[in-house]
Amino acid sequence: TNENRTGLALEWAERDKAVIWHPFTQMQTAPLPIPIVRGEGTLLVAEDGKTYIDAVSSWWVTIHGHSHPYIAEKVAEQLQTLEHVIFAGFTHQPAIELAERLITILPKNQARVFYSDNGSTAVEVALKMAFQYWHNLGKPRRKVIALDDAYHGDTFGAMAVSGRSAFTAPFVPFLFDVEYIPAPVPGQEQVALERLQALLSDEVAAFIVEPLVQGSGGMVMYAPEILNQLMSLARSHGALIITDEVMTGFGRTGKLFASHYLSEQPDLMSLSKGLTGGTMALGVTTCTNEIYNAFLSGDRHKTLFHGHSFTANPLACTAALASLDLLLSDETQAAIQRIVRRQAVFAGQLKQKPGVKNVRQQGTILAFDLDVDDSNRAYFSNIRDIAYNFLLNEGVLMRPLGNVLYIFPPYCITDEELNTVYAAVEKLLRHLN
Ligand code: PLP
Repeated sequence: TNENRTGLALEWAERDKAVIWHPFTQMQTAPLPIPIVRGEGTLLVAEDGKTYIDAVSSWWVTIHGHSHPYIAEKVAEQLQTLEHVIFAGFTHQPAIELAERLITILPKNQARVFYSDNGSTAVEVALKMAFQYWHNLGKPRRKVIALDDAYHGDTFGAMAVSGRSAFTAPFVPFLFDVEYIPAPVPGQEQVALERLQALLSDEVAAFIVEPLVQGSGGMVMYAPEILNQLMSLARSHGALIITDEVMTGFGRTGKLFASHYLSEQPDLMSLSKGLTGGTMALGVTTCTNEIYNAFLSGDRHKTLFHGHSFTANPLACTAALASLDLLLSDETQAAIQRIVRRQAVFAGQLKQKPGVKNVRQQGTILAFDLDVDDSNRAYFSNIRDIAYNFLLNEGVLMRPLGNVLYIFPPYCITDEELNTVYAAVEKLLRHLN
């Protein structure tokens, strides 16, 4: 809370408040932000010495924890050699090596890597590739189908294909039209299939999904079998499939990519977040040769006219290479499986507890709903803040999505730290019930 800030923590917070506008934050009512001075593995260290276990991997990015010495060393070396270079007409080794390595671990049909600098732009590029693919073929298609409550980012294209919510409300007049089908959660599979069938036509350019887990929509989880069916149905009408693995990529779902649970392969993929282990901002859009080839022409109008100043920044590509070294190591692979097992055990315990419903798990992600009476709107809308602040007081950073709580740990989290997170969640449940 604001009241118990003193000394430097208060001074920093007030200086911040005077000049900074924070993301997703109602600046009039939000409490002062907590100044962080260091990150060490799973821990965030605040200016006042208090530590927080980062149980959400800082917006789902720091897969190896904070300030990993191996990534730091590699980035520092790269910084001495080549910090940046224009990526049109020039190239560099970290970008080439990263693209080669990504191609070897992604679904087999992914053949080309396009760099950008965050998850939203990775989606934006996938959408532009999809629309322009049809344009270049001389058969323009303008419709996109997405899932209800999808979240694909905050730029205009990414917003357009996201669900409509408070996030998008002021911008609806500026967003292209998108049709939605329900997320195919257990019990909704048939409805989703029928709705998709009804919407498909030769007007549909693309079908975009967050495979297996819809993150910001509330850690909504569904099975690979139904996603395979939806993908194959969409493909039978020629729609391109975009899997947005910005959140699910790089081990989060228990496999390297959620797409690895599928027999159907995407045409386009969007990646970011865990790509650099959270060290540097980087986005990647990958596609098949079929899509790439539709842009090859003597006619310059068929060029993909898209790029950013920091496209393929060498420091970011180096961070991604170092992160991949760590991710593919036996040690991290074993750690992921250990987290999956521990989360399953805690999921079993949560199912027995009052005040909890819809306990669900996909790989390293464990989520559940706080069973609060949603007819009491004031309490329901406050539950997020109550839970967030309670857990922070317990030294655990979790960031509920409404009444949905989830544990999304860095892969370096120890059993002991996981126990601390679980104990904090249990204490919260006792406090609420
Ligand atoms: N796509 C998905 C599935 C995401 O979860 C997010 C971010 O939460 C994004 C895209 C947007 O990524 P960024 O915040 O890096 O723009």
